[in-house]
Amino acid sequence: MKLLPELENLLDIIAKLPGIGRRSAERIAIDLITNKNDVFGDLINALEKAKNNITCCSKCGAITLRTEDPCKLCTDSSRDDTVLCIVENPADILLIEQAGVYNGRYYCIMGKISPMSNTGISDLQLSKLERRLENKRLKEIILALNNDVESEATAQFLYDKISGHNIKISRPAMGLPAGSGISYADQITLGQAFKSRLRLQ
Ligand SMILES: [Zn+2]
Repeated sequence: MKLLPELENLLDIIAKLPGIGRRSAERIAIDLITNKNDVFGDLINALEKAKNNITCCSKCGAITLRTEDPCKLCTDSSRDDTVLCIVENPADILLIEQAGVYNGRYYCIMGKISPMSNTGISDLQLSKLERRLENKRLKEIILALNNDVESEATAQFLYDKISGHNIKISRPAMGLPAGSGISYADQITLGQAFKSRLRLQ
C-alpha cells in the first residue's frame, strides 16, 4: 500500500533529524497523529515559538534569543576572555555549560569536514574565527571536537590554521572510545576532560 503523500512528507522530514531512522520516524509520525493529548498541536506551537524567538548567536554560534544577540556567553563580563573553546555544534556548548567546568568564550564552526555528507571547509563557519584569533587577550584555544575520523581531520585543519598564532592550543583529555567524544560524554567525563586537557601547542 502506498502511503498518503502528506504522511510520506512528514516521515521524510522527521527522518532527517539526527539519530532518527525511518522506522522511528514512522512511529513518531503515527503517535503524533493519534495522540489523544494533542501533542501534535503543542509541537506545532512550540516549533513556531522556537523558530520565531530562537537563533544562533552571531558571534559564537550558541543558541540564544533573537532579542539577545550576541548571547550571554559572549557578553557576560565575568567570563574569561583569554580562553576560546571551539566546538562543532551549538548542542556541544550546552553540554559543556551543563558540566559547569568551563568559564571562557566559545566559537562554533557549525559542523565538521565530512566527505560522506558532502561537507567541506567552505561549509564550516570560519569567517569570524580569524578576528577572534587576533584578539590580543586570547591565550588558549581548546579544540573541543569529537574523536571520530572526520572530527579528527577537522581538528587537524583547525590546528594548522591556528598554530601560526602565538596561542596555546589544547584539547579535552577524552577518556572515551574512538568514534565518540564531546557530543556523547556525560557531565562528569566532560568535566574531567576539560580539567585535564592535553596541550598540543
Ligand atoms: Zn555568543
